[in-house]
Amino acid sequence: DDRISRITSAIRVIADFPKPGILFQDITTLLLDPMAFKDTIDLFVERYKDKDISVVAGVEARGFIFGPPIALAIGAKFVPMRKPNKLPGAVISQEYSLEYGTDKIEMHIGAVQEGERALVIDDLIATGGTLCAAISLLERVGVNVVECACVIELPDLKGRERLGDKPLFVLVS
Ligand code: IMP
Repeated sequence: DDRISRITSAIRVIADFPKPGILFQDITTLLLDPMAFKDTIDLFVERYKDKDISVVAGVEARGFIFGPPIALAIGAKFVPMRKPNKLPGAVISQEYSLEYGTDKIEMHIGAVQEGERALVIDDLIATGGTLCAAISLLERVGVNVVECACVIELPDLKGRERLGDKPLFVLVS
């Protein structure tokens, strides 16, 4: 697919960021290429437009870039899943483990209703811990997470296995 090669070429890889030894996948260069950015959104929209999805949940921060255009195109609401203490209203939160220590994501109570069908979106899946936390948060309030989607998967880190039965759709691996 021409579109996948355009997207792949538009992603920049930066060595030793944020720490020595890490090859950081940088999607900001994808955003600088309007054709590749549009291809990215179109591929997600083609996949999700007829799946009866009412919620697109985006994980801070880069899920906030890809989620809203998809939500608008498929007629769904966009729900931000934020880092702790950013949302002003009452929240439900989910802790998850990192390599060292733990982190948390939060969602406004009342943003979603029991029985809704959701897509969870982020730029990248590494170990899968972030997406697992997003899934748990939504499932705890009775939302059906239909699928997770990312632009990039780092397959060596086996995030897909951590997601278990939950389907994961990625554009670039
Ligand atoms: P995981 O929880 O280990 O799957 O890590 C995924 C989270 O870390 C996502 O929110 C990503 O945005 C972020 N992340 C990890 N590695 C990279 C990278 O190379 N580029 C961009 N984001 C990354």
